Amino acid sequence: MQCRLCDSGRLTSVLDLGATPACESFLDAALLETPETTYPLHLRLCEQCLLLQIPALITPEDTFTEYAYFSSFSDSWVRHAEDFIETAVDRLGLGADSFVVEVASNDGYLLRHAVARGVPCLGIEPSVNVGAAARAAGVPTETTFLHEDSAARVRAEHGPADLVVANNVYAHIPDLRGFTRALRTLLSDDGWLSIEVHHALNLVRHGQFDTIYHEHFQYYTVYSAQRALAVGGLTVVDVELLDTHGGSLRLWARPDAVAEPGPRVAEVLDLERAAGLHTPAGYADLAPRAQSVRQELLRFLLDCRARGKRVVGYGAPGKGNTLLNYCGIRPDLLEYTVDRNPYKHGRYTPGTRIPIHPPERIDADRPDVVLVLPWNLETEITAQLRHVTEWGGELVYPLPVLHRAELETKVNR
Ligand SMILES: [Zn+2]
Repeated sequence: MQCRLCDSGRLTSVLDLGATPACESFLDAALLETPETTYPLHLRLCEQCLLLQIPALITPEDTFTEYAYFSSFSDSWVRHAEDFIETAVDRLGLGADSFVVEVASNDGYLLRHAVARGVPCLGIEPSVNVGAAARAAGVPTETTFLHEDSAARVRAEHGPADLVVANNVYAHIPDLRGFTRALRTLLSDDGWLSIEVHHALNLVRHGQFDTIYHEHFQYYTVYSAQRALAVGGLTVVDVELLDTHGGSLRLWARPDAVAEPGPRVAEVLDLERAAGLHTPAGYADLAPRAQSVRQELLRFLLDCRARGKRVVGYGAPGKGNTLLNYCGIRPDLLEYTVDRNPYKHGRYTPGTRIPIHPPERIDADRPDVVLVLPWNLETEITAQLRHVTEWGGELVYPLPVLHRAELETKVNR
């Protein structure tokens, strides 16, 4: 086994989550009678360049050609995208003469805000069904994976981009070096690249082990991201810390020749260094933390079961499937879950085979406990589900430590 960034053979085990199915391979009823393929999910650290990574056992081509995730189903995510475009338009002075490219543009949740502001743009999205939804919403979108060939073709056809946006995709690419060179190809010589990716500082510090799944091939610190971007002749010039996905990085990078790193790059590197993440020893706490989340959650669910409480889930995100599979939670402990994405209704979670219903099912059933799987959206979901207290229900989040949502019950006295 070799590091995909630096080719070193010195990969050390950080967390072994066993073997699980692909996290977005939800099963329809007919598939329940067929075998299910599982893949080892084993996080390792390169001792040479400190890139956290899992082996590429499932290719993006397997995952993303027909994809179940539509970004527009999350209210907070759509708002986040609008804020980003507003900020980028101001910061970079984008207008009718500019050109913005988004890689993995999903259903156009972000670029529709560029279209609304009259900024020419192009989405690059591999999933046929998701890209079709973007075009229907008025966002020009090419159905292709980004690699060095498609990047050269887009540049020849549309010209270089003033801004390339790569949100929640830089972890999804096993050909990290080729993808990074492709990003550079899309970009003009004085352009800007903006990348959002989960911050491994939070993965380790808060034990967010369920952000590890087969679609995420690598997990970045600013330290390792700098080394990855350098492959494409790109330098990180600014870093923002975001709350999304339990704590993400927004990296701003520019071609080396025009790059002038600002103070925030060093500040975030200092945070990482203080947490020990610039040496292999700093990653040792992740495995015991994951084990402790598993044991706490199982103890809680078994206790609910013993007391005859009815427990259902909320959400069927990819991370939920890492959690459910690693913990071994099946319908005897979690009767069903619900999701706002109609694609998942009537299907079952991979591996654990928990049925997925529309959200209204919770209101009809009035369960005692709702276990929220997308814990990174706690504020949004707690607001949406406040009414479960009307029938005495509880909202419970599994991470960073098992806890009940703070729900103020308004009682008229
Ligand atoms: Zn390496």
